[in-house]
Amino acid sequence: MSTKRKKIDTERIEKAVQEILLAVGEDINREGLLQTPQRVARMYTELLGGMNENPELHAKSIFTENYSEIVLLRDIPFYSVCEHHMMPFIGSAHIAYIPSGTILGVSKLARIVDCFARRLQIQERLTCQIADFLMEKINPEGVSVVLEASHSCMTIRGIKKAGSVMVTSALRGVFMDDPKSRSEVLSLMHKK
Ligand code: ZN
Repeated sequence: MSTKRKKIDTERIEKAVQEILLAVGEDINREGLLQTPQRVARMYTELLGGMNENPELHAKSIFTENYSEIVLLRDIPFYSVCEHHMMPFIGSAHIAYIPSGTILGVSKLARIVDCFARRLQIQERLTCQIADFLMEKINPEGVSVVLEASHSCMTIRGIKKAGSVMVTSALRGVFMDDPKSRSEVLSLMHKK
């Protein structure tokens, strides 16, 4: 992945939205549509804001701590945009790791999810990016990331399966290698 980050060109989005409105036969001077191109441009700037954000910023609150059991943050809500249809997919992330001398400020886990989610994504890649980033930055014994999400590109269009939830997981380190650790973390993640 390229590390070069381009700023989002809102003017270009506005022009493109005008084109879509014209293409569907709308009157772009109709009152309700006058500000629509600007609104949509602002919306994309927000939804895709992670593209201009460096996740490293959220990996600075690292503390030395002799805790070597599971740290789990469950039910982190996230919103992302499917790159195949440019439609939202929405769900929860569950992240666990076993520290190896260093822990990360807990709110940073949620910020890291946001940073990678607010991009054009597919859920599989998002899951792995979060797991690999944590492995690299806090060098833990293991990382487990599970995402559950509903994809609007398949709930309101295409096959129209409302209520379907896609689950992806990325296991690294001890969670990958040791079946006991894996079953422990997965059962903690699914406890309600
Ligand atoms: Zn899609």
